[in-house]
Amino acid sequence: MAGDSRHPERAAVTALADGFLAGLREWLTIPSIGTDPAHHADVGRSASWLAAALRADGWPQVEVWDAGPALPAVYACWPSADPDAPTVLVYGHHDVQPVDPLELWQHPPFSPVLVGEELFGRGASDDKGQVAMHLLAVRAHLAATGQAAPSVTLKLFVEGEEESGSPHIRRLLDDHRTDLACDLVVFTDTPLHERDAPTVCTGQRGVVGAEVTFTGGSSDVHSGRAGGGVPNPVTALARLVGALHDDNGRVQLPGFYDGVLEPSEQERADWASLPFDETAWLAHNAGGAQVASGEAGWSTLERVWVRPTAEVNGIVGGYTGPGLKTIVPSRASVKLSFRLVPGQRPEVVIDQLRSFVLAHTPAGVHAEVEVRGEGVPPYAADVTHPANTALREAFEAAFDQPVRFSRTGGSGPAALLHAWLGVPVVYLGATLPDDRIHAPNERVVVPLLLKGAEAAAVLWRILPERLVR
Ligand SMILES: [Zn+2]
Repeated sequence: MAGDSRHPERAAVTALADGFLAGLREWLTIPSIGTDPAHHADVGRSASWLAAALRADGWPQVEVWDAGPALPAVYACWPSADPDAPTVLVYGHHDVQPVDPLELWQHPPFSPVLVGEELFGRGASDDKGQVAMHLLAVRAHLAATGQAAPSVTLKLFVEGEEESGSPHIRRLLDDHRTDLACDLVVFTDTPLHERDAPTVCTGQRGVVGAEVTFTGGSSDVHSGRAGGGVPNPVTALARLVGALHDDNGRVQLPGFYDGVLEPSEQERADWASLPFDETAWLAHNAGGAQVASGEAGWSTLERVWVRPTAEVNGIVGGYTGPGLKTIVPSRASVKLSFRLVPGQRPEVVIDQLRSFVLAHTPAGVHAEVEVRGEGVPPYAADVTHPANTALREAFEAAFDQPVRFSRTGGSGPAALLHAWLGVPVVYLGATLPDDRIHAPNERVVVPLLLKGAEAAAVLWRILPERLVR
């Protein structure tokens, strides 16, 4: 039912919903796959689409930052009429993940289809849907308050390289320091806990990755002529991989847990009270895995939200073709990634990995550790910060139910934004953990985006009295 008497934002969102959906569907047809050079022109088209939409909505300052080396990012600013109002920077991204394997999509990824309440298409959830949600929120905020300008000074920063690990975001932050100056960052790229249990996210894990290669001889050799007489790099690498965890699922890099910040008793109690159906989670969020497992002493949610991990992403070595080939292979390699939690730093974990590899390299084997990028540091927001209190209140108004805090296991540039801009970061997201982001058949639940927009619209109205500058 439209027109809730308790807050005017609901009716405003409802009135604007059709136009919002039409615009989002149009944006989703642009294949802005930032990780694929063949689609870099599409990232530019996507940025232009967003800039045009912002101008049409009345944002007074809109810029496409396309001078390179970063793929085009979009910046917009809408000053509050009150010069003392706080300034909020909303962060999101408009690049999307690749779509392979294409044959697993039920609808073409860039021809968005609405089935019931679900909108299917690449980027629907991650992250165009949530960026569009903010455009709707601002329109609803103005309609609901009858104002010509927002109650807070709003800035929007939508980058085009998030799915590539934001390789040039520091450069953008440096080049546009004045534009991006703010009192608070609202980070929009995280999910709710569940459809029936909406939550405010308060943190993300970090990530760092590396490839370890073991090389023995200069070529494979006959396992009869030399086998038993020389080290086997595949065996050595398998031993290293096997030694990554102990029997309790604890990562064995030296010093890995030093300084790790554990969640408070209050947070653990909150999370324990969230609904959690392990069977459904395994089926919908865990790729159909048959059991939940991991570090002893922690629940599944804690394992994926606030505990650090070591994962083997892939391993190759020796002969893998048809039939048998009796050799001692010359090399083997493994790709590893580590999810990090507050208290850990990517560069420190890489040093720990190097020590671990050194300690597990047998004589006669040469080891090489190739690090992939700089990694992404973890971030956790202060749950007692007034912005988080206001955010939770706005969510409760929009969702008509109590809202708890949660975390998410994925990674993003929140810590970087915090460090570079020197302000707190809070998370405002309204998607679901099982939206199949980065996978075939990505979707978003449209009524949740409308609730998210309603929450954001309420937040812009109540924030000035909560954030004393
Ligand atoms: Zn994303």
